[in-house]
Amino acid sequence: MRRLCFSVPYDSVDGGHVTPQEAFVKSILNYIDGQFVRGKQQFADVNPADGTVIAEVAEADEGQVDEAVGAARSALNAEWGSLSVRDRAERLHRVGTAIESRFDCLVKAEVTDTGKPVSLASKLDVPRAAANFRVFADLVKMAGLESFQTETSDGKSALNYAVRKPLGVIGVITPWNLPLLLLTWKVAPALACGNTVVVKPSEETPATATLLAEAMHDAGIPNGVYNVVHGLGSGSAGEFLTRHPDVNAITFTGESRTGAEIMKTVASSVKPVSFELGGKNAAIVFADCEFDEAINGLSDAIFLNTGQVCLCAERIYVERGIFDRFVAALKRKAESLHPGWPMDKDTDMGPLISAQHRDKVVFYYRLAREEGAAVVVGGGVPQFGDARDNGFYVQPTIYTGLPESARCMKEEIFGPVCHITPFDSEDEAVAMANDTKYGLAASIWTTNLTCGHRVAQKMNVGITWVNCWYLRDLRTPFGGVGLSGIGREGGMHSLNFYSALNNICIRL
Ligand code: NAD
Repeated sequence: MRRLCFSVPYDSVDGGHVTPQEAFVKSILNYIDGQFVRGKQQFADVNPADGTVIAEVAEADEGQVDEAVGAARSALNAEWGSLSVRDRAERLHRVGTAIESRFDCLVKAEVTDTGKPVSLASKLDVPRAAANFRVFADLVKMAGLESFQTETSDGKSALNYAVRKPLGVIGVITPWNLPLLLLTWKVAPALACGNTVVVKPSEETPATATLLAEAMHDAGIPNGVYNVVHGLGSGSAGEFLTRHPDVNAITFTGESRTGAEIMKTVASSVKPVSFELGGKNAAIVFADCEFDEAINGLSDAIFLNTGQVCLCAERIYVERGIFDRFVAALKRKAESLHPGWPMDKDTDMGPLISAQHRDKVVFYYRLAREEGAAVVVGGGVPQFGDARDNGFYVQPTIYTGLPESARCMKEEIFGPVCHITPFDSEDEAVAMANDTKYGLAASIWTTNLTCGHRVAQKMNVGITWVNCWYLRDLRTPFGGVGLSGIGREGGMHSLNFYSALNNICIRL
């Protein structure tokens, strides 16, 4: 097999960025039926830290998406679909090991593609990718199903039990903010349940999906079980995949409006969908909170990954008694962030993903002022005096003073930015926090456990943290309500989505 790890540019990364001479010799390929294949067209993979092109990406056309789906169907009907659960689980564990053995290569690829700090990719993205395979490999071995003894009208009985079967070929479409983590979060349970996959990673961050193919191969995953098609969404590989008649289900993470488009595309074929979408998440900080913990936790919740985590908090509600102190402390946190070269280990904030996304965030920075916000800190684009000025950095930003009706309080910005609002009563805080069309995550900060439980249960979201943020146990349900998604993944919820249950009723 052709080795990719050393043919992509990441081993020539020097001081956090790739030099222009290195740029055009690299290509990131599709992976179909165990082969790395070029596309008829290519698009550029850009380093968000300095705007240079780091690789050319092979764009899969409709025929190649069809080949990938065909390969996935054949693999499903061949060895993979009939492997025992134990064998499948063993190979998925080996994928985890193969990811770990490529740790540095995957970290560099992820950092160069996304611009996220190397410390974050090393701590979160790549370890979680390996953990995703391990967790679902273990879980599928233990996954039982209910059975029922049923009385019949003639006084006899029947036994009902269900068996778990693969759903089939799964189309996996993922975003750019946590590319390998979110892709493996879906691929691992899909494969654990015996499905095969065709993945369409974000056009902004194609590298690690292709690199994962090597790990799959080395772990003994048969050809055709894991396929990668690169491209854009509408009119490109994303749309070709969602509307392919032989794809049995779509699992998607991305923007709410893209989810809506995909729903339209799959409606006529009634494919099951699992959607993990956007958020406009709130945090409620009570005056009795452990102050420093709340500041540190919320600093992560606002600025981690340059605010590009679906779970990030963009609306902070703080009890009036500690409001001024809280705003001042969070301002100091924002000022202490070090936006640097992503590969520099001291960097704690990288650029945004693209020029287009930077323009969107800067638009909201301007809009916030027009809507009447007071700027506590930030609100602009930093100047470095080096190649980072060609990258897509923005300043970490805090606002106060906006009315709840402002667009900046309603729309997902997806940058290192929050607005802080004072509140006087629990009911008022809950009402403001819930006043959104989204419903992904919330966090509550208080030392009063009764209050913590009570308020947590009032939140109209899929995930509520109390005195923490982004503390994940992969067995728990993950997803949102409203514009934040459809369905839940995580633990048994993932296994249930990726399985077709066949209930068998035997008259005894
Ligand atoms: P996006 O919706 O623009 O793109 C996501 C993926 O969908 C990409 O691979 C893209 O090419 C593809 N796509 C776009 N249009 C398509 C179409 N018509 N048909 C098929 N595929 C199409 O999202 P993004 O900008 O990459 O990611 C950021 C968004 O993702 C934010 O809204 C964020 O909140 C959300 N997100 C949610 C979660 C979650 O778990 N809820 C996690 C991470 C990110």
